[in-house]
Amino acid sequence: MKLFTLLFSLILLSGTLNAQFSKTAFMNGKIYTVNGKQPFAQFVVTEGNKILFVGSDKDAKKYISSDTKIVDLKGRLLLPGFIDSHTHFISGGFYLTGLDLNPAKSRAEFIQLLKEYIKGKEDRWITEGNWDHEKWDVKKLPTKEWIDPFTKNIPVFVDRYDGHMALANSHALKLAGISKDTPSPEGGLIIKDPETGEPTGILKDNAMDLVRNIIPPYTDEQYNEALTAALNEAKGFGVTSIGDMSYTTDKSFQDQLNTYQRFEKEGKLTVRVSTRMPINTYKKFIKSGIQNNFGDDFIQIGSLKAYADGSLGSSTAWFFDHYAQDSTTFGLPNDIFQNGNFEKWALDADKNKLQICVHAIGDRAVSTTLDVVEKIEKENPVWDRRFHIEHSQHLQPHDFARFARLGVIASMQPTHLLEDGNWAEKRIGKKRLKYMHAYNSFLKAGATVAFGTDFPVVTLNPLVGLYMAVTRRTSDGKNPDGLEPLEKISIEDAIKCYTINGAYAEFQENKKGSIEPGKLADLIVLNQNILTIDPVKIKDVKIDMTILGGKIIYKRK
Ligand SMILES: [Zn+2]
Repeated sequence: MKLFTLLFSLILLSGTLNAQFSKTAFMNGKIYTVNGKQPFAQFVVTEGNKILFVGSDKDAKKYISSDTKIVDLKGRLLLPGFIDSHTHFISGGFYLTGLDLNPAKSRAEFIQLLKEYIKGKEDRWITEGNWDHEKWDVKKLPTKEWIDPFTKNIPVFVDRYDGHMALANSHALKLAGISKDTPSPEGGLIIKDPETGEPTGILKDNAMDLVRNIIPPYTDEQYNEALTAALNEAKGFGVTSIGDMSYTTDKSFQDQLNTYQRFEKEGKLTVRVSTRMPINTYKKFIKSGIQNNFGDDFIQIGSLKAYADGSLGSSTAWFFDHYAQDSTTFGLPNDIFQNGNFEKWALDADKNKLQICVHAIGDRAVSTTLDVVEKIEKENPVWDRRFHIEHSQHLQPHDFARFARLGVIASMQPTHLLEDGNWAEKRIGKKRLKYMHAYNSFLKAGATVAFGTDFPVVTLNPLVGLYMAVTRRTSDGKNPDGLEPLEKISIEDAIKCYTINGAYAEFQENKKGSIEPGKLADLIVLNQNILTIDPVKIKDVKIDMTILGGKIIYKRK
């Protein structure tokens, strides 16, 4: 009898666990759909991975049956999932899971942090680290003797935060064949103990390559860990699609694409990915017959990526006018923009229907890129090419209209303005600030702006980006009304830049980016209504729930 009861309850239990709701109804919400024809609603029903119906609670009865799961939104805001058009996603995962020795304030803390980190990682190289000995009680460089006793046969090579020196333990030095007889290479230094002549473990600049060159590439397992960490971050921030800029080489493209495919096959990929490929590999894609946006709902072969210049922070963004603090430099254009390769490759790739994006920060880098797009438009057959300019950070006033006319998408990262806005004037002077991160000028000109973050350079949290787009308040508190307040945009427009415009940039606007019947059910619930609260509070708003393809993949605890 007892056994029978037990079996019966087990059957009941498994029945409950397996109960497959084919539909989910989100009721009693404030829904901003980003669909111009029906911007607001209260009620959304999803079926399978798609949206079935959008309307008001009055329509509910028609769409609710015994197989419908009901989610009461309790008046909260529901939006389409965020599309972050510019991330370094898997690198971000490595950043999240990586070793961080920077917080160490003493020699003991440095040792302790490293000790804790290597637990369970005895099978691999220990790298990164970002230590800063200037913060320590003993203001001297670490030596291999500090870490040898507990690292033993685990090769360790941890770098200083500026990347100009690193500490190797004895095992790493041995593997690299560095001994007291090894001479320092040109442009580098192997620091040696003045008494014994033995290497101390500190390698500077080019000497670092002696060890770097023997570090094996990441294993599948390491890639899995990094992607898992990045996916968890994305879920919690309501990011359901990303443009992934991570790939710097052919090999890293392959490894990362393989990782995404592994996760997709196992049903673990909880973000939709549009890849980028280094532009110098474009012939491979032509040969294989791949054209723009080949792929499925989860993984799309996105655009080729090229660099036109560097960054404002390192004074390598390329301008027409010289830098304010250094009249000898205009920034640094990338060699493929100097030697004609970019133009040649871009014309050829575009002719074969491959989408292109270019990193351009300085006004001259942006303008020169637009010149190439103009040439492509003249010489190549007409097609819906949706060229992107990544960052589009500084502009000449007449170039906004060129974006609109050429259909070039400005892919921008408002979160950068939070910090960059503090020191930009020192670099480029007051006048050029006027068209820095000029969201409103782009929208007014009729250009498409797609928002993203550049994670892990900054947080993946889209609420910070939205906050910056509508307030332009820099982190130093010096611009309470916003840096160049004319470039602020409305929260509705900012949300569009973070959803439907991102979908458009990936040729996916008919599939996602707004809440409409037939589109993928990628939805997010926010704990506050960012359309109505004081804009200053937007950055603190939390995601309560993330839904991807109709499945709830995240609930805030
Ligand atoms: Zn980037």
